Amino acid sequence: MVNKIRLSIAKFAAKIASQVAKLGSGSGGNFPGHVFFKVAGQEALFDLSHEMKVGPILVTGTNGKTTTTTLLIKLLSHDTEIRKSFENNTINSITTGILKGKGDIGVFEYGIRNKTYGIPDTIQRLVDPIGVVYTTISREHSQVAGIKNPFDEYVEAKTLLSKNMTKGIVISNADDPLTANIAINKQKDIKVNFYGLDIDDIDDIFEGSNSLNCPNCGKKLEYSQKFLNHRGIYGCSCGFKRPELNVKLVDADFKTDEWDLTIEGELYNYTNNQDVSFNVVISVPPFGFHNIYNTLASITAYASFTPRIENIENTIRDIFNNLDMSFIPPGRFEVVKIDSNKYVGLGQGDNGDAARINALFMDQYIDGPLEFIYTTPDVNEEEIFEDHLKVIKSLNPEHVIVVPGRKSIEKAEEYYNIIAEEFDAVFYPLSYEKMGERIDKLVQLAQDSKYNYVIMTGCGEEQEMWENIKQKLIKR
Ligand SMILES: [Zn+2]
Repeated sequence: MVNKIRLSIAKFAAKIASQVAKLGSGSGGNFPGHVFFKVAGQEALFDLSHEMKVGPILVTGTNGKTTTTTLLIKLLSHDTEIRKSFENNTINSITTGILKGKGDIGVFEYGIRNKTYGIPDTIQRLVDPIGVVYTTISREHSQVAGIKNPFDEYVEAKTLLSKNMTKGIVISNADDPLTANIAINKQKDIKVNFYGLDIDDIDDIFEGSNSLNCPNCGKKLEYSQKFLNHRGIYGCSCGFKRPELNVKLVDADFKTDEWDLTIEGELYNYTNNQDVSFNVVISVPPFGFHNIYNTLASITAYASFTPRIENIENTIRDIFNNLDMSFIPPGRFEVVKIDSNKYVGLGQGDNGDAARINALFMDQYIDGPLEFIYTTPDVNEEEIFEDHLKVIKSLNPEHVIVVPGRKSIEKAEEYYNIIAEEFDAVFYPLSYEKMGERIDKLVQLAQDSKYNYVIMTGCGEEQEMWENIKQKLIKR
């Protein structure tokens, strides 16, 4: 317990800091959290977090964090006042979110790259979440700050965020063996709510998906149905299998201008300490298959924590039936129509899973020869390149343009040489330091492409690069 007076002084200082940050330019967003720690110390976050009577919910995973957090904020805010932060992934941004907001429930995005550059166990102890939401886990940034980041350590770091929870709910994607395994191991301590797909007619519609090894015993998993990359219905001779679903997609009608999704739920609500059930049909924009998972994750977390359980079906319908594509975070993949008949799909795809999802989304539009503008990973990211190469091959472009996506031009050229063995390809050695020039050239390449179908994805700084390119392309 931190001294009460010190806690109030720290909150006061943070409030001043928040006003100063408003006047200053740029990155003042997390300044209040920073000031709070300076005055009260990191341990004070425990008391601050407990000012929320119900408690905080943390959203984590490799892909889908920001979108799931955004949707969950929309849903819970419909029913009650909440505190929140998203897009930033640090202890400072969570603290700032608690300080700036009001309400007894908090929703915070939290990303963890590894144990050294994230502090999941400390976050768990200090924030003391009543909910941890796992979206999906796949290999990404295989190096952090120049050091290799082995995948098992990455998974372990994600596990630590909920490992010591003794109350609340873990919410997990049941179709992803890695997130399911984390949640199955928590079932002995606390409640777990699983979400996933319960649809017979989707079976491995996406070719070339990866199969995972069993997280329990290491043998290759057997899949009876594949939905999206490594997500599906799986089992292993050791007994590990996809868990029963609490919230599930039971029907889907994929029309060209909207998708009708039927979702059923039967799960435990923490805030009211009782079981709830619901059944809704929602009509959403054709927002890509991966966003079905983000929708299910947000609905499961919402139904697990809303204080107004009588509202569940109405709130879900209100939010999703009025959804437009602006809920997609900056820099993420979108297909933009430029000129009268040219489609450019562009956005971040800096891990294999994300790049494949982008390719699938683009695939809905492709009706002729394709040009692939590929932005490469860095040194020590050969695994990412291997995953990317599979994605390029699956789209079989007529022409490939290779540009460095991160710092190393030499490494990008190595990757280019591998691509050029199989595809008609060209390399542009654009430098990281002159990001403005890199962005302008990428815009020009897409604009001047003689192809009607262009996909531009791979590695690159989310907002600085992708969002800039997108804005410039739309403006022209
Ligand atoms: Zn096994």
